Amino acid sequence: RSAEYLAHQGRWESNARTYPRRLPIALAEGFGSYVRDVDDNVFIDFLSGAGVLALGHNHPEVVRAAEASLRALTHGLDFPTPAKREFTDAQLSMLPPGMRSRMKVHFCGPTGANAVDAALKLCKTATGRGAVVSFQGGFHGSTHSAMAVTGLVAQKEPVADGMPGVHFFPFSYCARCPLGLSPESCETNCVALLERSLRDANGGVPKPAAVVVELVQGEGGVVPARPEFVRRLRVLTAELGIPLVVDEVQTGCGRTGTWFAFERYGIQPDVIVASKALSGMGLPVAIILYDRRLDAWAPGAHTGTFRGNQAAFAAGAETVRIVRRDDVLGNVRRRGEQLGARLAELAGHPWVREVRGRGLMWGVELADPAGGAPAGSVAAAVQADALRNGLIVELGGREDCVVRVLPPLNVTAEVVDTACDILTASVRRCCP
Ligand code: PMP
Repeated sequence: RSAEYLAHQGRWESNARTYPRRLPIALAEGFGSYVRDVDDNVFIDFLSGAGVLALGHNHPEVVRAAEASLRALTHGLDFPTPAKREFTDAQLSMLPPGMRSRMKVHFCGPTGANAVDAALKLCKTATGRGAVVSFQGGFHGSTHSAMAVTGLVAQKEPVADGMPGVHFFPFSYCARCPLGLSPESCETNCVALLERSLRDANGGVPKPAAVVVELVQGEGGVVPARPEFVRRLRVLTAELGIPLVVDEVQTGCGRTGTWFAFERYGIQPDVIVASKALSGMGLPVAIILYDRRLDAWAPGAHTGTFRGNQAAFAAGAETVRIVRRDDVLGNVRRRGEQLGARLAELAGHPWVREVRGRGLMWGVELADPAGGAPAGSVAAAVQADALRNGLIVELGGREDCVVRVLPPLNVTAEVVDTACDILTASVRRCCP
């Protein structure tokens, strides 16, 4: 029956869809870390709705909270509501204590790219400047301006004349320094290059409205930024009065073991972009949390009809409650270590160039041992083989050569072990 659904989708839907091409199943229902297709096959879902399902599919308490809210009010537009208040308070309560009173929330919904757009627009309004600095390999979404600041060239090439004034700099990924510098010097050189360009009046980059960065590039292939790079980037942008926008759409809500990834780096951004896992169950909601000093918008300056998703608010507040009650962040750290250790069994395999990750966000980069070219077709074969054996994984990075996993944050040790058995076997089978 999956084939029938896929054929129907192929006949009627836009060509721009992605997952059915690579994961040819039709989903019927989900429960925890598992999903069942219309043919009654059960899979471990280590894609989690692209990192959305913080507490897995259909967490009963989260679903109950959403249902109760739907019975009370399905749509709240911009009005204050109890669900919105609880959600806002819950989100602010998850910020490091020193940031809570400094930050405001703007509801951008429904999706992550909308929040990236909002962040850029707010910084432009607040600074009166137009340029934006972004990083190579970053991904920020598919709307026009989110795509414009995205550094993955293949996604942008078909769109002529994207948003002007975006300047890309190397992301500190020292294992791949294009100049072959040592990790230690590369870590500082990346920021030194940016600093030089920002300070250089003769042909440098104009002072931008914002610097936007992912601290662990997700779609770019699970690439954590080096700590010194992030620290220096924060010092530089603060000194020059440039708002630092951290895109936590994928890394946020506990994915890397702290509520936000920036906490690990010991910095505080001016703007945080969050979406994906905010509701814990896949109901759409997207926000920016921003420093009050940037509060430049007059009423009506940035509106949108679907910014009052009551069920998402209720589910999101319930998710925060469960994350605290069940020490979900502790689970992310423990299961993350387990996952990293199990995937590290692949290190040394001739096709495995690197295994890297943080918390419950891991990637296995595959490259041709003869010459080192990104092995995208082998990664696709690994994904297909894993699916045949009951595991859903994602791809990313250069030519999609990184096999990525994003399990639910409450995944159990047993499920991690079973998934790793499947994935390591698939890599061994598919790499010639
Ligand atoms: N930023 C990052 C870091 C992302 O990973 C994504 C989605 N993969 C987005 C922005 C865009 O979010 P959405 O797909 O909800 O628009």
